[in-house]
Amino acid sequence: MRLVTFSIGSRMSFGMVDGDNVVDLAGQLGDGVTDLRSLIEAGDAAALVGAADLAGAPTHSLADVTLKPVIPNPDKIVCVGLNYETHRKETGRDKTEHPVLFTRFANSQIGHDEPILLPRVSDKLDYEGELAVIIGRRGRYIDEADALGYVAGYACYNDGTLRDWQRHTHQFTPGKTFPSTGPFGPWMVTADELTDPASLELTTRLNGEVMQNATTDMLIFSIPVLINYISCFTELVPGDVIVTGTPGGVGFKRDPQVFMKPGDRVEVEISGIGVLANPIENE
Ligand code: ZN
Repeated sequence: MRLVTFSIGSRMSFGMVDGDNVVDLAGQLGDGVTDLRSLIEAGDAAALVGAADLAGAPTHSLADVTLKPVIPNPDKIVCVGLNYETHRKETGRDKTEHPVLFTRFANSQIGHDEPILLPRVSDKLDYEGELAVIIGRRGRYIDEADALGYVAGYACYNDGTLRDWQRHTHQFTPGKTFPSTGPFGPWMVTADELTDPASLELTTRLNGEVMQNATTDMLIFSIPVLINYISCFTELVPGDVIVTGTPGGVGFKRDPQVFMKPGDRVEVEISGIGVLANPIENE
């Protein structure tokens, strides 16, 4: 099942994608379920929506809604750096015994087709195509063997980065969380439909040209390892997002370097999920 967060007019809502349409789930699933995060908190999202009587639910054409970040209001977004060997090597950074982690703020996120904004203080805007994991159950000290049972679903993510601000010091965060630099979408595919997240193909295209291509079995720290490690230092809760890292081929390590500029269009495609595409505009 594909679940989305969207706006129509001035109203935010959430829904289930059905072909070229989205079934509006607002008000259909009980009082406590007001958005995608609260749906995930309520239990198995695909099962809850599947069991609901949606005969009276409004349906919109996907063309008439604005897709928003899959989870616009996560409790936390944890990003993984240097999690593909091809990217670690191109950056010249040392291998680490534990995953390199940094965070994003929720207001850095945007939906499919919303513009990535180039801020006035940098011209070093780079793409990072990544697989995002959306947590479905609360947990700490989650065993690797049980970890995939804590996943609600998967989506594409573009960890848009201002390379100069990332590298001002050894802490990545400033370059990783500028407003409207983190496309997250186009939707969440529920975990029952993606039972092997280590078998997906990830491709990033800039203006139609392939810039990154990898399979998710190449992750240095697998999704179960990441969930175990992160849940040791923080409690994971439904709606939390883990952005699992980017493969080689980023723009700033190319010769010549490539940075995204207004008028460009960047796409992240993951097999079994779909295509997350965004134009670039000036702030
Ligand atoms: Zn990244």
